Amino acid sequence: MKFGGTSVADIERIKNVARRVKKEIDAGNQVAVVVSAMSGVTNQLVAWVNQLSPLHDAREYDTVVATGEQVTSGLLAVALQELGVNARSWQGWQIALKTDGVHGKARIQQIDRDELDRRLNDGQVAVVAGFQGIGPDNRVTTLGRGGSDTSAVALAAALNAERCDIYTDVDGVYTCDPRIVSKARKLSKITYEEMLEMASLGAKVLQTRSVEMAMNHRVRVQVLSSFVDAPPNSVPGTLVVDEDEIVEKEVVSGIAYSRDEAKITLTRVSDKPGVAAAIFGPLADASINVDMIVQNVSEDGRTTDLTFTVTRADLERAVSVLKKEAKSLGFQEIKPDAKVVKVSVIGVGMRSHAGVALTMFRTLAEKGINIEVISTSEIKISVLIDEQYLELALRALHTAYGLDAA
Ligand code: ADP
Ligand code: ASP
Ligand code: MG
Repeated sequence: MKFGGTSVADIERIKNVARRVKKEIDAGNQVAVVVSAMSGVTNQLVAWVNQLSPLHDAREYDTVVATGEQVTSGLLAVALQELGVNARSWQGWQIALKTDGVHGKARIQQIDRDELDRRLNDGQVAVVAGFQGIGPDNRVTTLGRGGSDTSAVALAAALNAERCDIYTDVDGVYTCDPRIVSKARKLSKITYEEMLEMASLGAKVLQTRSVEMAMNHRVRVQVLSSFVDAPPNSVPGTLVVDEDEIVEKEVVSGIAYSRDEAKITLTRVSDKPGVAAAIFGPLADASINVDMIVQNVSEDGRTTDLTFTVTRADLERAVSVLKKEAKSLGFQEIKPDAKVVKVSVIGVGMRSHAGVALTMFRTLAEKGINIEVISTSEIKISVLIDEQYLELALRALHTAYGLDAA
């Protein structure tokens, strides 16, 4: 069982979580619990580090931001003990949950399960601090924002758990973020592949790496609410499953968006072999990820405009890297734009259906929304649009693909 920030936001909610855990114990289950920091706490910790130094030492960043989860793990253990449940808290280093050395965005490499197993078999609930591990330098690491989801799935895989239940503030995965599209529908099942695309294209209900890990280790993940119980005889939340477990495949099963986008256009780039490599080489050297790319047809056969996207956090750095190379790259102008968003439609049914992109383009055109960049893969289509049209675009597409709740 994993509980996110809003589910452990105060003492009353921690007591509520403890009651839910006790219910599972009373039903005869062995339970490991993963907790996030109280909501808002991680943001505050990150802000403090940035106030002192925007270019801080990542090892000290981890020392600071990992503390939020330490607090909630201890508090939940106390709350469980108060209910008469045998419980013990665990920090990443105690398990040990070993990661690589990329502080701030570490990847889990190994989990020692022996001690946890022994305790679980003795009937003790393990309350594990999410988001954190221990690196090869023997220091605390963190797994990137939203990383408690990944802690939970990794632990479920290591313990061969029957299921990994992710409790949050919505009762499942919806066809679109229910906070923006009120007609969004809850999905009773979604495939690993679709969930992976949804997460990586911006739906933060699950961290992308947690879905990747669930897919690789075939962990059954269920997303459900820690606040409301589903009515009897209904599906409690959303199950993330293999494609063959879904009988009726939708052409489009979800729509995701990301505000974390910025666009750069280079005008009058030479239209000759090697130019793209010359532009993207220095960006890669600076560890800047480029996502969508379009190169226009050149009108005069000599120069062309090149547009691509990076994350908003990387925009300034990308511009300065390219300006430094301006002479050798030989473009005329560099135009950065941070006021863009990426909207994506996702569905495994797309593989065998024509016209999915057309519906998207037509719907946006009818609303007068200009598409700036397009990218596609087998099961998704993404477009970049002006951020002021985000909500309009999401609602119109949701209706156009027949996803609206009755
Ligand atoms: P937690 O703190 O429990 O980890 P998060 O805030 O990380 O919770 O994730 C839950 C939030 O994800 C929801 O409140 C919702 O606004 C957002 N969200 C975005 N897209 C979706 C979607 N397709 N389905 C459900 N929730 C979504
Ligand atoms: N507390 C961390 C964060 O806010 C990890 C998590 O909640 O999953 O990013
Ligand atoms: Mg989360």
